Amino acid sequence: MSNQNPVFIPGPTNIPERLRRAISQPTIDHRSSSFGTMFKPLFPGVKKVLKTETGEVIMFPATGTAGWESAISNTLSPGDKILACRHGMFSHRWIDMCKRWGLDVQQLNAPWGAGAPAADFQAALEADKNHEIKAVLVTHNETATGVRSDVAAVRKAIDAAGHPALLLVDGVSSIASMDFRMDEWGVDVAVTGSQKGFMLPAGLSIVGVSQKALKAMETAKLPRCFLDWRDMLNTNPKGGFPYTPPVGLFFGLGEALKMIEEEGLENVFARHHRMAEGVRRAVDAWGLKLCAHSPDLYSETISAILVPEGQDSTKLVVHAADKYGVAFGIGLGEVAGKVFRIGHLGSLTDVMALSGIGTAEMAMVDLGYPIELGSGVAAAQEYYRNSAAAEPKLAKSA
Ligand SMILES: *Cc1c(COP(=O)(O)O)cnc(C)c1O
Repeated sequence: MSNQNPVFIPGPTNIPERLRRAISQPTIDHRSSSFGTMFKPLFPGVKKVLKTETGEVIMFPATGTAGWESAISNTLSPGDKILACRHGMFSHRWIDMCKRWGLDVQQLNAPWGAGAPAADFQAALEADKNHEIKAVLVTHNETATGVRSDVAAVRKAIDAAGHPALLLVDGVSSIASMDFRMDEWGVDVAVTGSQKGFMLPAGLSIVGVSQKALKAMETAKLPRCFLDWRDMLNTNPKGGFPYTPPVGLFFGLGEALKMIEEEGLENVFARHHRMAEGVRRAVDAWGLKLCAHSPDLYSETISAILVPEGQDSTKLVVHAADKYGVAFGIGLGEVAGKVFRIGHLGSLTDVMALSGIGTAEMAMVDLGYPIELGSGVAAAQEYYRNSAAAEPKLAKSA
């Protein structure tokens, strides 16, 4: 039963049938021209999603975490100082990685539920008269708390301080689902993976790199081998790969890019907004609160919902999985046991979101939450009913 239900975890996301078929290919020779013919068009496709015309795209057979690592190891040198804020499990883990790489981390701390504090970044950068800070790290969408940070505001802060630091951004749970503007925001490295907005299995680390980051790469001294951008830049333009490429995933990525193009990137964002808003209406009707502190921070891909005092959110998630075969996200780190998460990203629609809202509601009532069955569903229905446009016009698929 359960494998017929969509998952509501914030990645890996649901894989549409069309992509499952695209991935499933007989072996081809990755040194043949047929690989290059499939591979080369992926780069302009991904650049469109990242909204970059001046940057390069680099893809490793790995996950988002490797994208973080490549961002650091290709642009920085041993002992370099970086500036970052810890306000959720993912920003925490990237900071932890920097420490393990021997970087000197100037760490700000914000509450879990707050965004990356642009004003504090600016103050830290202004105080850094000798420009010792080499990079600012931002998690665009903190998947643990359902918080979207304002990357444009961080860019403004860096510019206002007149600081030359690189801007490295984790867009793993936002890119291809929420608006991301690599060039406009002056993002130097943008990191994502295949298993979230791109609706594929895990296995591709997808990284956007600015010209400024490429320049930093020339002099960066941290060791790198498997994740060396230079090996990709030397081979990819000719349709080659420095080792065996994950051919099936690349076929899948090509098809995912087609799906996004057919729906229209802005329509994809609008669909995510609608799904998210329906979930938020339900949360409100349940009398519960989001972990995100204010509406400007609300993520369009993930809602972290605070459970009532005395309840354990992990039990709720386990119960929903065991009884109804539906997967929600548990709370991580500082919010473990305190929030459960409804992922609403990737291959989902508002109609599917209703089933997640309805299931969460049943599970909460089962466990004695003071919630009225149907209340959240009704609030979401009312919103979806009134906000659903007629089916967006789809471009003719080939
Ligand atoms: C999922 C996620 C990651 C981790 O990516 P992996 O593919 O699991 O390595 C990093 N950052 C954010 C914000 C995420 O949501």
